[in-house]
Amino acid sequence: IIKDYDVILDASDNVATRYLLNDSCVLLKKPLVSGSALRFEGQLTVYNYKGGPCYRCLFPCPPPPHCVTNCSEGGVVGVVPGVIGSLQALEAMKIITDIGDPMISKLLLFDGFSGTFRHIKLRERNPECSICGDDPTIKELIDYEQFCGSKPNDKERQKELLTENQRISCADYKALLDEGVPHLLLDVREPVEYDICHLPHSHNIPLSQLQKSKDILSLLNTPLSDDNKRGTGCIICLLS
Ligand SMILES: [Zn+2]
Repeated sequence: IIKDYDVILDASDNVATRYLLNDSCVLLKKPLVSGSALRFEGQLTVYNYKGGPCYRCLFPCPPPPHCVTNCSEGGVVGVVPGVIGSLQALEAMKIITDIGDPMISKLLLFDGFSGTFRHIKLRERNPECSICGDDPTIKELIDYEQFCGSKPNDKERQKELLTENQRISCADYKALLDEGVPHLLLDVREPVEYDICHLPHSHNIPLSQLQKSKDILSLLNTPLSDDNKRGTGCIICLLS
């Protein structure tokens, strides 16, 4: 895809795609303008240009998947990707026209909360880098999902769809409510989504917490006592 283009902009939201784009750009000798955003903060730098480092020079190994905070869980203020995207476009223009001082070996940090920009100096190109070093060991693209241990999207989880008889339609749920069938309604979206709107009498336990908490999982596997009058039914509601 990228071989016909002179400058590549990385606006991806996951580690696997970042390594894929970095390696593609190094192998094809293309500059890579990298931007990222999370919550109120954004970052910008230029990789693989005029002797500067590549992404692998700075991050030879991917972080453990569970340490990566993604946008779907961490959230991002919509304006921040706009700011970083505009600055990426500016860097691309500077590279194409060969003017100015591109963000090589420097990282621009934008803090939208305080409205500040600052630079930090990055390491120079690593001569022992596995792809752009003097004796590279990576000479073609690899399996990036396997390398990173995560899928090329901002969700670590793979979709495991419920079978037809494990699901309930809106109409059937309404009927269940009208009949007064005892049940427990869990809304497993993130709190920010739950706060926007949710069904009455629902309980918010984000799926990210649910999967980590053995206590909650064992609680769900335990029939509820008669004392709480809720019965033993359990409905998990995952809305997007
Ligand atoms: Zn490198």
